[in-house]
Amino acid sequence: MPQHHIAPSRVALLECVQCGATYPPADYPFGCDACAARDRHSNLFCRYGDEIRDLNLMLPYQEVPDLGQDNTPLIRLDWLDGVLVKSEAANPTGSHKDRFAAMVAAHARASGYRQIVVGSSGNAGLAVAAFAAAAGVRAVVAGFSWLPQPIIQQLRTLGAEVQTFGGEPERTAYVAELAGRSDTLAVSNVAPVVAGSNCVGIEGYKRIAWEIADEVPSGIDHIVVPSSRGDLAWGIYRGFCDLQRIRGTGIPRMHLVEPFPRLSAVLSGSDLTTRFFQSAGKLTSIAGDCTTVQAHAAVVRSGGSAVVVDERTAEDWFARACRHGHTWELSSCTTLAAYAALRERRTIVEGELTVLIATSHMFKGL
Ligand SMILES: [Zn+2]
Repeated sequence: MPQHHIAPSRVALLECVQCGATYPPADYPFGCDACAARDRHSNLFCRYGDEIRDLNLMLPYQEVPDLGQDNTPLIRLDWLDGVLVKSEAANPTGSHKDRFAAMVAAHARASGYRQIVVGSSGNAGLAVAAFAAAAGVRAVVAGFSWLPQPIIQQLRTLGAEVQTFGGEPERTAYVAELAGRSDTLAVSNVAPVVAGSNCVGIEGYKRIAWEIADEVPSGIDHIVVPSSRGDLAWGIYRGFCDLQRIRGTGIPRMHLVEPFPRLSAVLSGSDLTTRFFQSAGKLTSIAGDCTTVQAHAAVVRSGGSAVVVDERTAEDWFARACRHGHTWELSSCTTLAAYAALRERRTIVEGELTVLIATSHMFKGL
């Protein structure tokens, strides 16, 4: 059921990624109600008027808090075939989540919510805390007890209320309870079966595609993205769909990196609703026991793939990146390993252009 109407914005309607059902603009914390009723949870995505031909009009809000997010650098790694890296660590709180947080903070402010609650393993919490502060809205961060102490301190310094939990079921119950309040916008990890995060927030990731296209007008062949529930991959994919519609350009193949087979298992025949109870080790930013319809759709519709990179392999590539002076978090460095694996498999061949998404900064200790 819709929880709250989206304030007047440019969104014309919301569409289910899986079944195509459409809904009037509002917040649907459980994604598509029709799919949820069949226990096949799926996220929604924002649709704009068919007459709109301007990318700037294909975001829910024009007025978002400006802390210096977006327009992150695209770096060429001469030590790795000249592959390009979009360094999202350059965002103000050090991760891509700032793009999401800017959009949900604008949404919360415009729609009259008093507070935003986010279930976070670190990066999203810091981003939401900062942008909520900028928008004059309260932030509640539901994290795990293993969150590094400096992060908990930073969250509180930014004015967020922090609650920590020993496990996922307790945390989900807490977020779900707050999500039932009309003054609270719940943006992630609302239900035990996760369809993805708030679809207005995910729109903020489309700019990554637009920025890459502006820097490399000749086009990109492959994008490699660290992935848990596929918010980022789906947002980037949707950004390239916008470009295809307006400029007629191609959509790169999306390769999603995961710490153990989840999406890979689904692509090999497991049901999309399967739960995978396996530890991601130190790869906490891409942990999680399921994949999502949106992650699957980003891969299948773009002709991409899923790549498994375990903790140990990620640590090897993290060390290698550090020897070249890069300061990306461990989960971000899975893209380097995935790139090497995709070259080895000849999924990526000589002469093709690839962009790796380095999602976050190492300073947070995640
Ligand atoms: Zn649906």
